[in-house]
Amino acid sequence: MDWRSAADTAGKGRDGSLSRVVSGRMAALAFVLASLLVMASELVVPGTYSRIAVVVIGTAALVVGAASWWIPWERLPRTTVLWLVPVGLAAIGVGFVFGDRNSFNFSVTFVLVFVLIGLTQRRWVPLKMTPVLLVAYVVPLVVIGGHLGSAGLESAIYVVPACVALGELIAWGMSRLAEANDEIAEGEASVRQLFDAAPIGICKLGIDGRFIEVNRAYGDILGYDPDQLVGMPMQSFTHPDDRAANQELIGKLLTGELDQFKFEKRYLRADGHQVWVSVNGSVVRGAHGEPLFLIGQIEDITERRQLSDELALHAVTDPLTGLPNRTLFMERLETALHHAETSGRQMALMFLDLDRFKLVNDGIGHDAGDRLLRRVGQRLQGALRSSDVLARFGGDEFTVLCEVAGVEEVDAVVARLRASMATAVAEPDFEQFVSLSIGVALSHPGGMAPSVLLRSADIAMYQAKRLGPGRYVVYEERDEGDAGRKLRMSNELHRAVRENQLVLHYQPYIDMRDMTLVGTEALVRWRHPERGLLPPGEFIELAEECGLMVELGAWVLREACRQGARWMAGRAVAGIEGEPPAMSVNISPQQLSDPGFTDIVASVLVETGFPPERLWLEITEGALMRDPGAAIAILRTLRELGVHLAIDDFGTGYSSLSYLRRLPVEALKIDRSFIEHLDEESDDRAIVEAVVALGDALGLGIIAEGIERPSQAIELASLGSFVAQGYLYARPVDPLLVGDHLPRTISGWEANSRLSMV
Ligand code: C2E
Ligand code: MG
Ligand code: MG
Repeated sequence: MDWRSAADTAGKGRDGSLSRVVSGRMAALAFVLASLLVMASELVVPGTYSRIAVVVIGTAALVVGAASWWIPWERLPRTTVLWLVPVGLAAIGVGFVFGDRNSFNFSVTFVLVFVLIGLTQRRWVPLKMTPVLLVAYVVPLVVIGGHLGSAGLESAIYVVPACVALGELIAWGMSRLAEANDEIAEGEASVRQLFDAAPIGICKLGIDGRFIEVNRAYGDILGYDPDQLVGMPMQSFTHPDDRAANQELIGKLLTGELDQFKFEKRYLRADGHQVWVSVNGSVVRGAHGEPLFLIGQIEDITERRQLSDELALHAVTDPLTGLPNRTLFMERLETALHHAETSGRQMALMFLDLDRFKLVNDGIGHDAGDRLLRRVGQRLQGALRSSDVLARFGGDEFTVLCEVAGVEEVDAVVARLRASMATAVAEPDFEQFVSLSIGVALSHPGGMAPSVLLRSADIAMYQAKRLGPGRYVVYEERDEGDAGRKLRMSNELHRAVRENQLVLHYQPYIDMRDMTLVGTEALVRWRHPERGLLPPGEFIELAEECGLMVELGAWVLREACRQGARWMAGRAVAGIEGEPPAMSVNISPQQLSDPGFTDIVASVLVETGFPPERLWLEITEGALMRDPGAAIAILRTLRELGVHLAIDDFGTGYSSLSYLRRLPVEALKIDRSFIEHLDEESDDRAIVEAVVALGDALGLGIIAEGIERPSQAIELASLGSFVAQGYLYARPVDPLLVGDHLPRTISGWEANSRLSMV
């Protein structure tokens, strides 16, 4: 609906009905006054009629005038009022001719009539009435003639213009009044329109908390007709849990502590459902700052809340069993331990692992395995108290957190958990007995970190597993043997990879003939926060065991290529010509068997801009011989990328010569153990000789590693020309010590690193 027409239908204003009411009543008032005037003048200066007649007629006029106050002026057309004018004027004339002939009353009555015209009619109507006025004024005077007539005619010169001017002035004033009135009405109508048609719910709330007015949208959100809500206390629709907070905010608004507030709360709808709304509250104050009423705007956010609640639930529950997941369990554990610490209570954490689940899973199929897990979850839940927390920690592992009075109570809980598995889980397509290995750890009364309690329970569970299926072990301090240390280390290693505690050191290898630098090998180290710099021997195996090697290896590869590219750029800046030294990176067996490995190599090369032909990958002989067939395929793909391949620690594994021939490698790195005793009386010389011969036969380059003494170098030189690596030439160092480019010869490297060390 157009707001203009809305303003029109609002009833007052445009059509001037209000001004008609005002003017009509003014006219009535004027009529009353005129009659009073006539009565007064007749009483003061007695005229033709008897006083009684004047009083009677005057009183009748007074009554008519007073009664006309209630005439429905707004319904009378303006023209009707206008047609009354000549009649009135004629009546004055007749009254004058046949009445008391008081010229003062005569002229004053005309003035009053024009006041009436001004009040009831539009502008210019008094002016247009001038001829009628002239006739009405002059004719009676001419009719009566004589001295009074001629004196009266003279008065027409100022009475007539005075009547017209006064009438015009009043009409103008009335039209201004009507315009202002229209504007106010329009403003009110548009505000009302906004209020009624607003898509958000708006309410006006008294300071007593009751609805004064609500719009349609507000009613819709609450499921009531807006009129039904008026006068009702808003809090009776608010969810009981939100009432206190809502009241507090309203209190703050009223005291002026807050100008406005935004708040999410629940309303109870007429149909009994709850609806989430976002409320914007503000207060309207009077001239002296006193609160008059409150304005509330609400928006239905139920869908959004439901969605976010669902998302939050998904984030913390295990979709298979519907139990809390690891994240939620850890949160609960943390809070429980915190409470336990302050209250001195003891918590038991149990790690439950299904025995031989892998076998079961493989045997009955994954789908059935999932159903089994679900049923186990239900049974465990049934065996626990409502205050205990059961979670699916991952795979076939469940965790339980419960408050206990001591070890005896733990026994009781464990007995209940086991009893819940006493009968086979029967499904239409399988029947399966389940046994649990359970590790339990109890919190110290003085407080305990969640991770420590978890680790202890995990260690206890492994102990239980070692004892055989269906066993249960309570963790004791001294249990942390190898398994515990390993577990801790693996946790720390996870963090190390993420928190950049790993660093690469670089060891050069050289051409023995002229001591020029052929390349550098990247060797990883772990800057352990407590134990200092750890060599790879301390953590590579562990990284393999806990499945971190792929991530760790990718980091090494990326970092080494980045460093290689940096050195190449430094070399270009320094204007050093010739082929830049190569970069060697060790690759572990797990990396090699990772299906995404070649993609990682390719993307690292693109990312770092390091040329593939300068990259060497060193793979241990053992790793290659695990599954030579698969290795050949991967190595081929790697060669297609343009990178070079070397067999590391050659001689320690059991290379089949036929495979060796088919492997697309280009160099053999003779293991340090054969170099170690080269300068002594040993068989090693013969072995090295054989490897050199093999290399020659297969067209492979030979690298000797672990050269520590000049005597070893001399011995090697007598067997041929080698690329060599060892402490004799340089130890692995931090790249910062090498500088921004690699030197051409090993003496340059030494000078560089010594210089930096000073
Ligand atoms: P590797 O690839 O055979 O590396 C050579 C190892 O021998 C290095 O030990 C090096 O410091 C050491 N070495 C070099 N010259 C001499 C010497 O003259 N005398 C003696 N006694 N040792 C020497 P590091 O750095 O402790 O590395 C040990 C092994 O750890 C490496 O053997 C390699 O197999 C593995 N490794 C190191 N970094 C990585 C890596 O990033 N990824 C993988 N997968 N393995 C790595
Ligand atoms: Mg190596
Ligand atoms: Mg080696």
